[in-house]
Amino acid sequence: MRKLLGGVLFALSAAALPAAHADDITKAADRGAAARRSVDYRLLQLDGHQVKWGASAIGAGAKVRYMLVPAAMDFGETRNCRGLKPMDELLAASGIDPARVPGEVAAAFEMWERAANISFQRVDHPAVADILIGAQAVPRGRAFTEVIYDRRPPVTLTGAGPTNVQPVAGSIRRIDKALICLNPEKPWKLGFGGDVEVYDLRYTIAHEIGHAIGLDHPGPSGQLMGFAYEEHFRVLQPGDLAGAISLYGRRGLPVAKSPTQVLPARPADPRGMALQ
Ligand SMILES: [Zn+2]
Repeated sequence: MRKLLGGVLFALSAAALPAAHADDITKAADRGAAARRSVDYRLLQLDGHQVKWGASAIGAGAKVRYMLVPAAMDFGETRNCRGLKPMDELLAASGIDPARVPGEVAAAFEMWERAANISFQRVDHPAVADILIGAQAVPRGRAFTEVIYDRRPPVTLTGAGPTNVQPVAGSIRRIDKALICLNPEKPWKLGFGGDVEVYDLRYTIAHEIGHAIGLDHPGPSGQLMGFAYEEHFRVLQPGDLAGAISLYGRRGLPVAKSPTQVLPARPADPRGMALQ
């Protein structure tokens, strides 16, 4: 039986206005049959904008800092990862050695770092962390990612004077922060074991990182960004690589080529949604 990876994704403006990009489970299920054909990747679209870290240009690289939250944090208006807390209880409940977790999280980031020109640095203070990871203060679903982006339109200087500053229509917006939260009441494990009721921490976090850097679900399966939790592979698949490269450019080494099909981004759903 296939299990689902949750991932409610929506965005907040710099002014903390609630906004939403969402996709509900039912819709995802309806799309399932059509999406079951091989589709490689889909870029996340929030309120009509593609989002990425670093420069607001497709293919431009980025450096991102992350941290496992050291104490409870409240993010106010955000909906899906409103409260984050340390993962101690989650790990204890699943019998996971906390000493192994930083390595698992680092391995999840490394998948993406090797895939494209985006690098991740672990930092020791939440104030300087771009991506924060923790357990949900209010348990819900399995795991979610929240992407907070800068809603101000980028400007292009077309002349010498300030009157020539013009917004760029339909441009890419810069991600300001992302939150990844895991349900501490669900069972977790390190590695695969065949029981898809218990999710592998590294796989799940790698999937959520994919959302946190601007990727959406291309479909249910076949890629790590697929919304179904299946234990067929524990590394990025060709579509995942292609998606990351499309946003951040190549890391340098050639990546195995595969036919690439990009789905058009879905229109924003104002209700907010649970991606599964
Ligand atoms: Zn997801």
